[in-house]
Amino acid sequence: MLLPGATLGVLGGGQLGRMFTLAARVMGYRVVVLDPDPDSPAGQLADIHLKAPYTDAAALLHMANLCQAVTTEFENVPARSLEMLANRCFVAPGPAAVAIAQDRLLEKTRAAEAGCDTAPFADIEDEGFLVQAWSRIDGPALLKTRRLGYDGKGQVRIPAADDDSFWRAVDEALGIAASVPSIVEAFVDFACELSVIVARGVTGETAVYDVVENEHVHGILDRTIAPARIPSALAHEAQRMALVLAEALDLVGLLAVEMFRTRDDQLLVNELAPRPHNSGHWTIDACLTSQFEQHVRAVAGLPLGEARRLANAEMRNLIGPDVERWREFVTDPAVKVHLYGKTEVRPGRKMGHVTRLLPLE
Ligand code: AMP
Repeated sequence: MLLPGATLGVLGGGQLGRMFTLAARVMGYRVVVLDPDPDSPAGQLADIHLKAPYTDAAALLHMANLCQAVTTEFENVPARSLEMLANRCFVAPGPAAVAIAQDRLLEKTRAAEAGCDTAPFADIEDEGFLVQAWSRIDGPALLKTRRLGYDGKGQVRIPAADDDSFWRAVDEALGIAASVPSIVEAFVDFACELSVIVARGVTGETAVYDVVENEHVHGILDRTIAPARIPSALAHEAQRMALVLAEALDLVGLLAVEMFRTRDDQLLVNELAPRPHNSGHWTIDACLTSQFEQHVRAVAGLPLGEARRLANAEMRNLIGPDVERWREFVTDPAVKVHLYGKTEVRPGRKMGHVTRLLPLE
């Protein structure tokens, strides 16, 4: 167990690292952030900000010397960097769990092995594979790059074969598959998107948050409704699946599981993120223990806190120029405004979020 006063490291200095840093400092820990951006949101608040690339061996060594434990705010951290750190200090989540979560083929395969359903998917390498996979899926599909895709990036939608744009989409998909390993998966005509966050400590202790409902615009999370408006049996099943997956990855830290609820009430796992998640920001204001505090507790080896919801909540992201709306939200006494300290407004950039608290139901 790392006692307050110990130093925790975070790879990545974005908003997730920033909110982790805030939670860690509230609990009396020191924080070292590694991020090349000299003005990164987490670097602004850290005790020490190491401004270097994630592959910089000297910076990683320095980090390992300064920290008793290191975590990450993004799953695309280079595997070798995590291994290098893991040889020198406690790293959570471990390199094996991160390696699975950063590859869509491995994560879906592992989810299926753990008994969780996913949309039908197949690895593709060339035209032959695509045709084979596509004939199995037999309907609209999505090509996704195995790695480095997030918020809908690295995806091509392939419509049904009788659609005018079918061949154009196939050509585009093959172009991508020829340059980077990719998968193709069935397009799910879902009823809604859900996610569940589970925390798991070093002893295997777990705490699971309520299932939430997520709405995306242009592939980016726009709104989270907590709790999800779904039957309680389905919510329990989603939480059970998240717990099974955290166990299957032998994860220490947080696991966010994104799922689709199909129109016939099946739950299909879409994506696993071994870290705090945008769809868990509501927990800062509406739960006794936020996802970030829970992450600190898991990484430091403290007992986990209670994940119970104290209020219903609705979280909205402030994306790009939406950030200007903080003025409107700040006048509403039922809304909490969170801004990430980013100075440059860019389209699609997550600048902040707001959480509206609602009566507990
Ligand atoms: P992802 O990068 O996999 O999280 O995908 C981003 C968003 O694209 C998801 O939140 C969904 O809204 C949508 N999406 C991803 N995969 C599928 C799918 N198989 N069927 C339908 N929509 C999808």
